[in-house]
Amino acid sequence: MEKIIVITGGSRGIGAATAHLAAERGYAVCVNYLHNQKAATSVVDSIEKLGGKAIAVAADIASETDVINLFNTVDEQLGKVTALVNNAGILEQQMRVENMDGDRLNRIFTTNITGVFLCSREAIKRMPSKNGGAGGAIVNVSSVASRLGSPGEYVDYAASKGAIDTMTIGLAKEVADEGIRVNAVRPAFIYTEIHASGGEPNRVERVKEFVPMKRGGQPIEVAKAILWLLSDEASYTTGSFIDVTGGK
Ligand code: NAP
Repeated sequence: MEKIIVITGGSRGIGAATAHLAAERGYAVCVNYLHNQKAATSVVDSIEKLGGKAIAVAADIASETDVINLFNTVDEQLGKVTALVNNAGILEQQMRVENMDGDRLNRIFTTNITGVFLCSREAIKRMPSKNGGAGGAIVNVSSVASRLGSPGEYVDYAASKGAIDTMTIGLAKEVADEGIRVNAVRPAFIYTEIHASGGEPNRVERVKEFVPMKRGGQPIEVAKAILWLLSDEASYTTGSFIDVTGGK
């Protein structure tokens, strides 16, 4: 059976590392992105150079229309999805809750929560063995923030990841007897560009001394946990979490 994976936010950071590793492991890869076509194309090019199969598809996961188009495009160009990594996520300028306005909260929750639900819905429609599909696996990219809360920085972001943790547990149980597994990874401080959105590009350097392993993590270290959860090695694992945190 052909393995077909959709990685939301596959153009940069953890998503890009996951795209490369998935291609190495034999998946045909859909690299979803929001605006950065250059980055997405470069991930696709490097997968193709190594003999893999990949496409880049622009879609805002916060838009229901875009999400439907994303999965229809994958149907047409790659085939029925067998694996989904709900990786795309955003945070905004560090601030206390008392300074957050409604527009910001809606942006964070719509992308980080609604987007994950919409992508999961489209994947599940295509995966279930009871609907003639081959089953499949979903991995949500949550965050250690769901249990630390991110006070003074972005409690809204942390709360959105708390919702994803709960969704992982509930959805895993809902589709467990349909051949679909749903798990999550919870990274801590990983060297990517997301920290610039919070106004602190070098945040990992500042906080790494609070990590028991005394260092930040690399995107590939998260990607390896994601690929394990997607693989047959994890065939009896669902509704579970892997913290990729250096002990945090
Ligand atoms: P990143 O480097 O900022 O990359 C974000 C990716 O998501 C990009 O590919 C971006 O596309 C895409 N994206 C953003 N909004 C989108 C939208 N509305 N629709 C579709 N794609 C969208 O982020 P990262 O650090 O790799 O984070 C990936 C995930 O890991 C996130 O869910 C984040 O919360 C989680 N996480 C990260 C850390 C960390 O320390 N880095 C820790 C814990 C959890 P463009 O390239 O087009 O902009």
